[in-house]
Amino acid sequence: MTNALRAQMPPAHPFDDDKLKEECGVFGVVGVDNAASVVALGLHALQHRGQEAGGIVTHSFPQGFSSARRFGLVRDNFTDESTLATVPGPIGIGHVRYSTSGSKGATQIRDVQPFFGEFSMGGAAIAHNGNITNALQLRKELVERGSIFQSSSDSECIIHLMARSMGQNIPDRMEEALRKVEGAFSVVAMTRTKLIGCRDPLGVRPLVLGQLGDGWVLASETCALDIINATFIREIEPGEMVVASAKGVESHFPFRRAKSRFCIFEHVYFSRPDSILGGRSVYETRENIGRELAKENPVDADLVCPVPDSGTPAAIGFSLESGIPYAMGIIRNQYMGRTFIEPSESIRNMGVRLKLNVNRALVKNKRIILVDDSVVRGTTSRKIKEMILEAGAAEVHFRIASPPTAWPCFYGVDTPQREKLLAATMSEEEMRDHLGVDSLKFISLDGLYRAVGEAKGRDKNAPKYCDACFSGEYPVKPADMLDQGFEMKTAAE
Ligand code: SF4
Repeated sequence: MTNALRAQMPPAHPFDDDKLKEECGVFGVVGVDNAASVVALGLHALQHRGQEAGGIVTHSFPQGFSSARRFGLVRDNFTDESTLATVPGPIGIGHVRYSTSGSKGATQIRDVQPFFGEFSMGGAAIAHNGNITNALQLRKELVERGSIFQSSSDSECIIHLMARSMGQNIPDRMEEALRKVEGAFSVVAMTRTKLIGCRDPLGVRPLVLGQLGDGWVLASETCALDIINATFIREIEPGEMVVASAKGVESHFPFRRAKSRFCIFEHVYFSRPDSILGGRSVYETRENIGRELAKENPVDADLVCPVPDSGTPAAIGFSLESGIPYAMGIIRNQYMGRTFIEPSESIRNMGVRLKLNVNRALVKNKRIILVDDSVVRGTTSRKIKEMILEAGAAEVHFRIASPPTAWPCFYGVDTPQREKLLAATMSEEEMRDHLGVDSLKFISLDGLYRAVGEAKGRDKNAPKYCDACFSGEYPVKPADMLDQGFEMKTAAE
């Protein structure tokens, strides 16, 4: 990418490298006029899942397949008529990306999805959310057998595996390809006339089905159905493949059945609070997390303040449960964007202050409970604590709406290496002292499970969710990472 292009790219989370970065968002529609416009709206609603780049592929007769892929935000790339006119047709898929594999931090346009492949029975495009944990092994085998990769993305393996399949049609080839893939995937794909959606056997990443008039929609989250006024039909089940066309929706289960292990962090942070996951409002779940947190870790204080915006529903829940008043003690500048893309050193040093400011009049001489969704490296938490104390707060108590993040995610979420995770190297007390706060408490894993509807907490023998970044128990062996020396949790840990 040229420097000029890179300069046009807004940073994913400006000055916020202390959050886990969401994976990607996928969207597809069949049977509507101007599919590309619908896809653009859907991707806009999914922008929180990836801000680095986006792409749309459509098909129309007689033009065939068309694609538009760009760096940056959907609103800056896919709203003008001239761009959308280049991707005509009644069927289309799209993808927003935050790079979780491939050329991280140095994305090339060839890494931007959807990917396209031409097969003997016609073309197909795919968009993938998740991470293939055996991608390096697959890639090596495929290259040795003659495949020529265009990108550095793990997702391209699926196209090459499809090319090698002997299946008679695209859905059959996709099925065969996905059976060889390990890890987490929610895939949206299209042929000339069919929209295909598939989730991995554990259903780690989300995917939902909606209806729009006579057409069908697939999306990472229900908020992307709301924006186009589509009706939410249901979630695609773990291990399910659906094929939607003018004839309706066919469903089948091509993989060995397994118990679902949906990503519990989607409930905590990744998904939008106005989405529905597993039949539950994400907002209400986050409020429940705050209530559980207050029950488990009460503290005498004057105000409960969220670290905006992601800590807000949990802070409201904490306040409701504890009876301690809720207040906006920290105000977020909603207009962070392109202004400081190439900040000078002095502006860069202002860091978190560019984004967050303390409401001085509110916090002065008060004992403050700060509710945040997670602690990753702890750098932002430290700065926020300093700002609150400088503003005259009497005490600062951190309450965290997830258990300590002590393990990296290999299923489509960008996490720092294990040694960079604060909780991997420090006990809770050490983290409290490191952050310099009066108290620091995390919700327990059992408390988190209760908040997502498991009344008895986490079943140690058969956990219902993926919680590997907290527990170190990986539901799918991260084969490539093990090859590279990653050490799984031992029985003694
Ligand atoms: S490791 Fe954590 S972030 Fe990754 S899928 Fe599992 S719960 Fe989600």
